[in-house]
Amino acid sequence: MTVPHTLRLAMFSAQPYDRRFFEEARPAGLAIDYHDTALDTGTAVLAQECDAVCVFVNDILDAAVLERLHALGVRAVLLRCAGFNNVDLAALARLGMFAARVPAYSPEAVAEHALAMILTLNRRTHRAFNRVREGNFALDGLVGFTLHGKTAGIVGTGKIGLATARILRGFGCRVLGYDPYPAPGFAELGSMVPLDDLLAQSDIVSLHCPLTDATRHLIGPATLARMKEGAMLVNTSRGALVDTAAVIDALKSRRLGALAIDVYEQESALFFRDHSSDIIADDVFGRLTSFPNVLVTGHQGFFTIEALREIAAITYDNLRCWQAGGQCANLLPAG
Ligand code: NAD
Repeated sequence: MTVPHTLRLAMFSAQPYDRRFFEEARPAGLAIDYHDTALDTGTAVLAQECDAVCVFVNDILDAAVLERLHALGVRAVLLRCAGFNNVDLAALARLGMFAARVPAYSPEAVAEHALAMILTLNRRTHRAFNRVREGNFALDGLVGFTLHGKTAGIVGTGKIGLATARILRGFGCRVLGYDPYPAPGFAELGSMVPLDDLLAQSDIVSLHCPLTDATRHLIGPATLARMKEGAMLVNTSRGALVDTAAVIDALKSRRLGALAIDVYEQESALFFRDHSSDIIADDVFGRLTSFPNVLVTGHQGFFTIEALREIAAITYDNLRCWQAGGQCANLLPAG
């Protein structure tokens, strides 16, 4: 694939693996400046002389940043992720900038990670790994439950929710779904029910809805109180779907049986960087990771070779669409 003439793209929050997969498929006529720093008002200047920026989940695209980018001559924003809760859509529309995302790159990758977390947390394989290496073969503290026959609740039955439901069905779970805008495809896997029923009946609740004003802190004191005692909560979607303080209270009171999170409300200060030699100032995060029944991964649900290739390919398709002035199926909704 080629782009019509030389274009310059500034990629923010670029990691070595982004460089690898974007270079592998980079079209002729496109120059990319890779910046490991995140995009914000202070770093926007790095996009000087660029036609487009390419951003990820924790880059900031509020009105101030978009105005700064626009003033620098940037006309296109390419999100190399599905979620776009970090973008001010109204500012984008006002400035007339093009913005497209990668709505689906491998729903199975995220669904499989959700399952990896459920199985790890349930069967304590992360603890068993260390024990066995130390010559400790005692089983106390490692007891789990049989997944077969349990009820799993999927909140948001879109692409990833459906993929997760399919895998859970394969494990012999009864699957419930909640989605205010249900898409076809779930009926053969399970039953759609009101959120309260899903929370009351599910042994595992897995979140797969986007972060919006309506879903922020969807899991908070009231919804936690409605969950089945001792249930497992899984969040591979967006951190702010969960009120972390409320979840910590529910873990301390043992109402919530286990928590698996690949995303965290304040993750932008921590994730995608090595902080192993730093003093982490986030006490809430410190408290979370002190529970034996909490498993945290650093937003790696998407992180498979297939998904990374797909992200680069679709981002380049979006860029070509913008260049050609054609219809782009992956445009962000109008603000
Ligand atoms: P999708 O658009 O296919 O599905 C989202 C579903 O959520 C839709 O069916 C929608 O109707 C539903 N929904 C909207 N509001 C809801 C509400 N209030 N309650 C319940 N459901 C609601 O999106 P997807 O591709 O399945 O992705 C889901 C989310 O996963 C994304 O928004 C993104 O935040 C997250 N994600 C995480 C990773 C990761 O690496 N952990 C990777 C990709 C996507």
